[in-house]
Amino acid sequence: MRVFNAMEPLVAEALHENWSDINMPCKCDTCKNDVIAITLNSLKPRYVSKDYGMAFVKAQYFDKQMKADMYVKIGEAVRKVAENPQCENYNFIPSNSQL
Ligand SMILES: [Zn+2]
Repeated sequence: MRVFNAMEPLVAEALHENWSDINMPCKCDTCKNDVIAITLNSLKPRYVSKDYGMAFVKAQYFDKQMKADMYVKIGEAVRKVAENPQCENYNFIPSNSQL
């Protein structure tokens, strides 16, 4: 039996669709995954126990309010990652660097 958090593909898809409009200093895969992880941690997980199609998951788990909440959480996650990128592009620069 396959169990997965239905929010996972929904968040990933929403981020992917809006990625070009999102303003971040670094947009590498690591930063993108950090945004997805932080968003998922701040949202209530919706586990589904069968391999439903995305259409079913969207209809079932994606009402207007939930979509609005998800975009708020994505915005917060983007801000966190933008302020403090954890990827290798930024790893070597101390946060108090005068550069
Ligand atoms: Zn990055």
